[in-house]
Amino acid sequence: MPYDGQGGAKTSHDDLLRNPEIIEFMAECEDVPRPTQEEIKETLDTQPKIDDFKGELPKIIIAIDGSTYESSLDPKFPSRRIGYVKISMVILQTDQYGKLKERTTRAVDPMAVARLQENTEAISMGLPGAYVIVKGAESVSDGFRQRLMAYYRSANTKLGDNTLYDTLFEVANHMSPSRVKDNHLLFKVCPNRECSSNQKLEDGEGTKTRDKVDIRVPHGTGIATCPVCGSNVYTTDILRVHEDFLESGSNVSSLGRLMLITEHLLALHYVMHLRKLNKKLLGDTCVIVDGPLAVFGNPAPLHTGIMRLLHDINKGQISDGHDVPVIMGLSKTGAIADHANLIKNLLPDGTIFPISDDYRYGFIDVSKRGRKANFGQETYYGQDFLVKTNEGRLFPMCLAYPLPDKTNETSFQQEKMNIEKYMSMGRALKVLTTFESDLYQNSMIPVVLAHRHASISLTPGGKVLDIFSKMALGKS
Ligand SMILES: [Zn+2]
Repeated sequence: MPYDGQGGAKTSHDDLLRNPEIIEFMAECEDVPRPTQEEIKETLDTQPKIDDFKGELPKIIIAIDGSTYESSLDPKFPSRRIGYVKISMVILQTDQYGKLKERTTRAVDPMAVARLQENTEAISMGLPGAYVIVKGAESVSDGFRQRLMAYYRSANTKLGDNTLYDTLFEVANHMSPSRVKDNHLLFKVCPNRECSSNQKLEDGEGTKTRDKVDIRVPHGTGIATCPVCGSNVYTTDILRVHEDFLESGSNVSSLGRLMLITEHLLALHYVMHLRKLNKKLLGDTCVIVDGPLAVFGNPAPLHTGIMRLLHDINKGQISDGHDVPVIMGLSKTGAIADHANLIKNLLPDGTIFPISDDYRYGFIDVSKRGRKANFGQETYYGQDFLVKTNEGRLFPMCLAYPLPDKTNETSFQQEKMNIEKYMSMGRALKVLTTFESDLYQNSMIPVVLAHRHASISLTPGGKVLDIFSKMALGKS
């Protein structure tokens, strides 16, 4: 993901801060809430410390990170746009990493890092944006959806026999309630917004209903026709990123949603592949994604499928006598990273601070102040912890919940706070503490590598993509 502030114009930020009305207004706003030393201590006293955990360093670390870019490609028609999503995966074999560290004393050998970068794979998706119709598509939006499915099914995403599309199907099959029956994906709502089945109807008593449709899209072709409106329905419509898609405007936010859900699905895609390949090796793997283990926006319902599928995989690992894979999210930016910086000095070295819902509502997410409900009920499949290493570095780390679902919200809220249940905790901490000295601003090297490789800088890299866009449209 791009760092905050990237690409922002240098506005009159300083002028604003000197403006007396703004100063007065800021004075009327509450200060950032911060916990007291006692409040932190109260939580820490009940928690194990980093040194209480033993764990081997996983042999394989897979880091996944993405970026998006939207380009105005035609100087004569600047409103015509093309979107890009690029996701990079870095595979780190930790025994090799160890060897190259032995050879160098202070810093990591840049040549060796370059060699490690060769172990990077990337998936790039070029998608139509405003006013661009893919040949043969019914509409701008239909073209977007067609291309999206083509990417998910493309050989570029193939691990073994399966594409990312197959993993998406498996996630849908684990959704609650399952969206798959007899190898068909079920849609109860037509993905076409204009479809009459999709219009809310007054039933005369003020309540709104929809005409129900029952669309069954086969796994094989991935395409079906809505019986009501006759438009195409694609299996990848379950991602729902097209719902916010604008046929005549910027789609930066849809692209961002697509990037995030694809990162999480790719993480699972690797896990599923390794499971087939070698369960012991899967138990010796750590997958790191950027940001918390959560799916936001329209694709959010998929998080239940990811959570349940991961739990099934873990159950299989345990019954076969293997470790569960470490599935970890690391946050570089966002509210939790900001909060981590705020309380860094309040946390003693060597501690693990699990973020309870009460704490989060009180100090991190004040937009939800006073709430009691389970945090992330519709989005999260992992628990956030703040880990402060013995060397004093602080990491916001998210670990996959050790539970299959959140059906019982109240008991889930309690159980997710039980550190002992997180079987991958010891190895996750080992990953953090092993690589921390090579970190750059609290980011892990694989994440940094992935970021470097994934980031599309606005210039000159973006320029190259502009050229690609033109080529894609047959303009040069
Ligand atoms: Zn329809």
